Amino acid sequence: MLDDYVKEQPIVYRVMKNSINKNQFSHAYLFELNGYSKGLDIALAFAKFLLCPNNYSNLSNCGNCVQCHNIDTSNFLEIKIIRPDGQWIKKEQLDELQRQFMTKSLSGNKKIYIITEADKLNISAANSLLKFLEEPPEGIIAILLTDNMYQLLETIISRCQILSFKKNINSNQEKNSLQAIGKYLYNEKSLYESFIADVGLSYIDEVIEYILFLEKKKEETIIYKNKDFLEVFNDRQKLMVAFDLFVLYYKDVLNKLLNIESSYFCDYEQSLVEVANKNNLKQISEKIKIIMKLKVNIKYNLNANLLMDKLVILLSEV
Ligand SMILES: [Zn+2]
Repeated sequence: MLDDYVKEQPIVYRVMKNSINKNQFSHAYLFELNGYSKGLDIALAFAKFLLCPNNYSNLSNCGNCVQCHNIDTSNFLEIKIIRPDGQWIKKEQLDELQRQFMTKSLSGNKKIYIITEADKLNISAANSLLKFLEEPPEGIIAILLTDNMYQLLETIISRCQILSFKKNINSNQEKNSLQAIGKYLYNEKSLYESFIADVGLSYIDEVIEYILFLEKKKEETIIYKNKDFLEVFNDRQKLMVAFDLFVLYYKDVLNKLLNIESSYFCDYEQSLVEVANKNNLKQISEKIKIIMKLKVNIKYNLNANLLMDKLVILLSEV
């Protein structure tokens, strides 16, 4: 059930919940899993939340209506899961889906299709999906899951609402980065320790996600990211940390461009490469300068919203 994920995926969870509360859901969601292992589970929990007349999210609000029961027993005609057939997801699988979903749903309810490993759509399947996304039939919702978002067609990505997942916190992978960054930020042992044990990884994920979005979507970041970002970094102290992380991150991108080993974000190699490919040395130095300059403003007269807007605009111009 959806409420199971509130701790592990707080941001994604909130977006999902809001979609119902505000009755604004997208025709297509792209789950950027970032190695998170329970993508399909949460997609099904989300599907149940959307389809159940009580918006099932925990045991106290439903879990025993006909819809919930049918989903649990995989009897639900309104949900379809598409997985790679062998190495690829093929056009025939998409055609089959469209045939099934074109007939109006019996309950007049929404229909949901989930595509796992969406980066494995072959070209003709991707084009077929694209057509489906371009003219989404009423009440049909797509959920695409992927660990390699940038292998999807740009035109598909742009038609989806992207939900970026946090990695499984218990994976050991990010330990080196976390410690290196913690040591840079805090001299005092207790502060360092609470960073490591508590907020460190989520701050790092948050900052990387923000930068990747900004690098790709430029000014759109103001609309799509700033609000969520400021909910995480919601006071002066935290915002200073965020800006420090921005600087460290871009310094590592600089290292990447110079073929020097990264000092802080060593566990996030792939994202560094991605950003390095979009910038030259001069641009990165310029970006670091902008961030450091704006960081000074945090100490004074802080209007965090304006500050973040300004950051986005200045960085987008570089
Ligand atoms: Zn239900």
